[in-house]
Parts: sequence; structure tokens; C-alpha cells
Amino acid sequence: MSGEKLGIFGGTFNPPHIGHIYAAQQASQALGLRILFIPDNIPPHKKMPPHSASAEDRLEMTKLAARQVPGAQVLDLEIRRGSCSYTADTVEQLARLYPGDELWLIVGTDMLCTLHTWYQPERIFAHASIAALARDTGDRGKIEKSAAFLRQKYGAQIALIDAQPLPVSSSQIRDGLYTSDTARWLPQEVFAYIKERGLYRLDLRS
Ligand code: ATP
Repeated sequence: MSGEKLGIFGGTFNPPHIGHIYAAQQASQALGLRILFIPDNIPPHKKMPPHSASAEDRLEMTKLAARQVPGAQVLDLEIRRGSCSYTADTVEQLARLYPGDELWLIVGTDMLCTLHTWYQPERIFAHASIAALARDTGDRGKIEKSAAFLRQKYGAQIALIDAQPLPVSSSQIRDGLYTSDTARWLPQEVFAYIKERGLYRLDLRS
């Protein structure tokens, strides 16, 4: 039994940005986690915009971004599983893959506040503790309220990571990529990949 602490960081990563990297670094440092980035195939709780990058491109970009998080790994298990990516299935799969390790699910404010609406959340809390991070200043109250609710309703184990928020999002970056300078919120290698492939270009949108 290895007894490692693993930080499961799922997302659409459309594209991965400095907010993701920072959140992973902060959770890793605060709790001693080795990070597993897991890009989803089809996210159950958000609609993919029509100009989104493909699952393969999101996976490649996530690999480039993950280089900035020491010891991190990128797993393609949700993409390989296909169809809708339910975190409950992923966490159970990881519990089987890494028996004896401690699983932590890393989430930002938006995801923590909706966790109770996810598919079979009790299966998630049965295998993983939650590491929650604020995405914006003023999120603290929302996080504490959701954490109290999830602890009370599901007996969830939740740690609040005390880090200064870095308020950026993939949608904001996509929207300004070729018109303003939102590319500054991307790792250089990710932006180079996007440019080379012409991803997210307004003039190519259908
Ligand atoms: P979009 O704008 O397309 O909805 P996003 O920026 O929210 O995308 P996701 O890939 O959906 O990115 O997020 C994956 C996980 O990372 C979620 O738990 C989300 O809350 C968290 N996250 C995203 N951005 C940040 C950030 N700036 N700070 C902390 N956590 C973040």
C-alpha cells in the first residue's frame, strides 16, 4: 500500500489556463497532493459551445499545461470511456486503480456550489474528500455555505484551500483570444498550440 494523496482535477479544459494551474498548485501545496488532471469527454453540467476544441486537442493542451505542476499527470480515462463524463464513475475507477491511496477532488466555487446536483454525488463522497478553492474575491461565503450543506447532507469531507483567487475562465479567454489579449492567461505552450491549429477562431466558427 503506497498511501499517496492524489488530487483529482477534472474539467473541460477548453482551454486549460493559469487559473487551473494555480488552483492545482495551491491544492497540491496545501494538502500534499499529487495532481491528476482529467479532461472530460462530454461535461454533464455545461453545454459545450459550438466552437470548442475537440477532446483530443483539450487533452493535448492539458498535457502542456500540466508541465507547470510538479509531479502532475494527465489521464485520458474519461475521454476513453466516451459519452457523458460522470465524476462518480471516475472516482470509483480511480479508487480501483489506486487502492490504498487517498483521493481528493479539487473544485472551484462554481462546481462546489452545484455538487449536490451532480449524478449520484453520494458515490463521489464515498471515495473522495473535496478540496475547494475560491475563483473570485467574495466567494468565501458561498464556499462555506455549500461546504456546510454538503457535510450535513452527505457527511462529505471538505477542505477549504486558503489561496488568493485568480479570477479567469476558459470562456472569457476563448472570447477574447484573437480580439483582445486574454491569451496572457494561458501558458505560452498552450497558446502556441491553439494558434498552430487555429482553435477557437471566430472566422472559422460555424
Ligand atoms: P468555462 O469558462 O468554459 O466554463 P472554466 O474556466 O470554468 O471553463 P473548467 O475546465 O470548466 O474551466 O474548470 C475545471 C475546474 O477548475 C472546475 O472545478 C472549476 O471550478 C475550476 N476552475 C476553473 N478556473 C478556476 C480558477 N480561476 N480558479 C480556481 N478554480 C478554477
